[in-house]
Amino acid sequence: MATERTSLFIFFGGTGDLAYRKLYPSMFNLYKKGTLREHFGVIGTSREKLTDQQFQENVFKSLGVAKTDKDAEKFVSHFVYEAHDVTDKAHYQVLKKRADELDKTYKLNGNRIFYLSLAPSFFGTVAGFLKTEGLTDTDGFDRVVIEKPFGRDFDSAQQLNDALSKSFDEEQIFRIDHYLGKEMIQNIEAVRFGNTLVESLWNNRYIDNIQVTLSEKLGVEERASYYDNSGALRDMVQNHIMQIVSLLAMEQPVSFTDVDIRAEKVKALRSLRVYNVAEASTNFVRGQYGAGDNQRAYRDEDNVPHDSNNDTFVAGKLLFDNYRWSGTPFYIRTGKMLADKFTRVDVVFKKPLIDIFSFPQNHNAPLEANVLTMYIEPHAGFTLRLNAKTNGQGFQTEPINLDYFVDAKDSKATPEPYERLIHDVMKGDGTNFSSWQEVSYAWRFVDQIRKVWDLQQPQFPNYTPGSMGPAAADELIQRDHRQWVYRLNK
Ligand code: NAD
Repeated sequence: MATERTSLFIFFGGTGDLAYRKLYPSMFNLYKKGTLREHFGVIGTSREKLTDQQFQENVFKSLGVAKTDKDAEKFVSHFVYEAHDVTDKAHYQVLKKRADELDKTYKLNGNRIFYLSLAPSFFGTVAGFLKTEGLTDTDGFDRVVIEKPFGRDFDSAQQLNDALSKSFDEEQIFRIDHYLGKEMIQNIEAVRFGNTLVESLWNNRYIDNIQVTLSEKLGVEERASYYDNSGALRDMVQNHIMQIVSLLAMEQPVSFTDVDIRAEKVKALRSLRVYNVAEASTNFVRGQYGAGDNQRAYRDEDNVPHDSNNDTFVAGKLLFDNYRWSGTPFYIRTGKMLADKFTRVDVVFKKPLIDIFSFPQNHNAPLEANVLTMYIEPHAGFTLRLNAKTNGQGFQTEPINLDYFVDAKDSKATPEPYERLIHDVMKGDGTNFSSWQEVSYAWRFVDQIRKVWDLQQPQFPNYTPGSMGPAAADELIQRDHRQWVYRLNK
């Protein structure tokens, strides 16, 4: 059994899609593992009018278990509900009373986690009232969890952060980036800093380029109105891709703690070159999908304006101006309606300076580059591509793969990202959350691309559903005499 953690949770937006689909099932997993046991309580709050019993029934249903599941019954008995408009000050008094009652019932030591699963426009208001109405006035810890998006540019993110900082210190704020809760993202650190073989080559002398691809097969589904105001650059690059890139680019932290890891990620992001207009135009490509077989064009999707210039695809080249990475580009790609759903990192090493096997009499194909591929999802694992001798007479070489994949049993036991992240919030471990500094450097970089795009009229649509994006994304990397490691029709 895991160590039991003690806390009250207040979920704002407690009847929303995220809460029912991800948050409560993840908490139930923690309950089954013993991280949550007797000493926890949950208040769900939103505008909807529900009794405690109705809320408990909804939560029970969200767990996807048999009606007779006794664990689930005990788990939901810790849940209560308060209908609440977050802009109404008086309701925080009701909430406080309820919080104090649960604190007593379950002996929660005044520990409180405020989970804001709401539109970001409410974050500042809620944080302010939590403080002024005394909900944070306890002997235990007070932590606030914030969902994405954290702003839509640097200025709005800063305003949001200023509003939150009036009530909470940086170490009390947990900004969710659910990619950081993924097993294989955390494995980047293990593979890099746990292996001399890897880390000693992890620089511009031996690595030719690094490629990060977050590919989605689906389109916008029912999130169109949100997505049309965001786009791939804001929705995926500013947060998830920048987080992955900073883990790949950072120096070894002094220790494996949130403070030291964040410090190195921030240092890496500070050396990321912020592009001028010409560089942004050359080094970034945007796309929007058109119609395909049985698939509408993005502009014909429900709730998308017919003249939308929103980006459903981004590819770009990132350059770090530091000793480790100068001259080694990081190429990134993400988009909707692509060939498949997967996330992967391909680390392409330089070829041997001299290829002694390819001489005219030998007819050997030139040596290929070694590639370390980290598969993040859907299947977690690694492949290391090496050159080896082809079996048999003569001396030919061929690339072979050393593979490791997490097997089905371990995969099933892998915690869901939200399960891991909620657990980290209870422990007070900020390693897998975005710090304000990381967020702000990422916005500064992304804002510059956005600014340039806003000046130019794109030629949309420019890619077909089921492809890997527009031709310009291939040209971006081919211009540097390189290729995407993952590509269709190899
Ligand atoms: P949702 O629209 O399904 O739910 C919103 C919740 O907020 C509802 O419970 C609603 O009653 C409540 N609410 C709205 N206005 C309120 C008010 N004035 N007072 C009190 N309650 C109010 O949204 P969601 O999909 O659950 O997303 C919640 C947050 O999480 C958003 O910030 C979203 O960007 C973020 N997010 C969601 C997902 C997802 O998969 N759904 C993924 C990543 C991030």
